[in-house]
Amino acid sequence: MKFRNKTEKHEKKRLGIQGFITIIILVYVCLFGSFSDAMVVNRTDSRPDHSISLLSVGAVDDGVMKTLRSRLSETFRCDVRIHDGTNIPPETYNPQRKQYWSSRILDVLRKLVIPSEREKYLAITGVDLYVPQLNFVFGEAELEGHLAIISLARLSQIFYGLPEDRALFSERAVKEAVHELGHTFGLRHCPETECVMHFSNSLHDTDRKKAVFCSRCQQLLEKEMGLE
Ligand SMILES: [Zn+2]
Ligand SMILES: [Zn+2]
Repeated sequence: MKFRNKTEKHEKKRLGIQGFITIIILVYVCLFGSFSDAMVVNRTDSRPDHSISLLSVGAVDDGVMKTLRSRLSETFRCDVRIHDGTNIPPETYNPQRKQYWSSRILDVLRKLVIPSEREKYLAITGVDLYVPQLNFVFGEAELEGHLAIISLARLSQIFYGLPEDRALFSERAVKEAVHELGHTFGLRHCPETECVMHFSNSLHDTDRKKAVFCSRCQQLLEKEMGLE
C-alpha cells in the first residue's frame, strides 16, 4: 500500500474500549481540545437530542474554533458547543518522530469526557499526529462512536513553505472536521470525489472535494440522526 507517501490517506479499524471500531484516517493534518461550557449555537431547526462539542487540545486559533462551530452547526443541524481547552497529553509524544500518537490522545480524552447517547466530541489540535504504521494522519475517528480528532498542522500553506491562505486553511479544517464527524455517525468513505466523505489520497483530493455530503451520504446521515 501507500503508507509512506505523505500525500496519502489511510484508514484502519480496531476495537475500542467500548467495542467501537476505530477508523484511522491518513490525510495530512492535526488538532487539539479542551473542556468547559461556552458559546452554544442554538438552532431552531436542530435536533435537540443531538450535539457536538469541540475541544481544543493544546493551542488552537480561536477563529478556527468559531468557524468550526458555525459550519458544523449548519452541516449537522445540531447544537455545537466550544469547550475549554485541555493540554496535549505529554505521554502521547514520540520524540523520535516529533509527532503525537492520535490514538493515545483519544484514549486520554475517553477518560475526560462522558458523552451522552447522541453527543459527539471533536478534538482539534495544532500538533502533527501519527499512528505507528503511517507518516502522519489528518485525523482519527471512532466509527459509529462519539469521539474524533483532527490535526490542523498540515492544513496550513505555511507547512509547505507557501504564503498563508486563511480562507483555504479554514475550508480544509471544516472538511476534515465534517469528514471525521461523519465517521462517528457511521458513514464510511464515498466514491464521489466531491463528497466530503471521499477518501483523500492527497491534499489535492481534500481541496477538490466539498465540505458537504453527497446526496447518498446526506440521506444516510439524516437517517442516522433521525432527521428524515
Ligand atoms: Zn475517512
Ligand atoms: Zn458521499
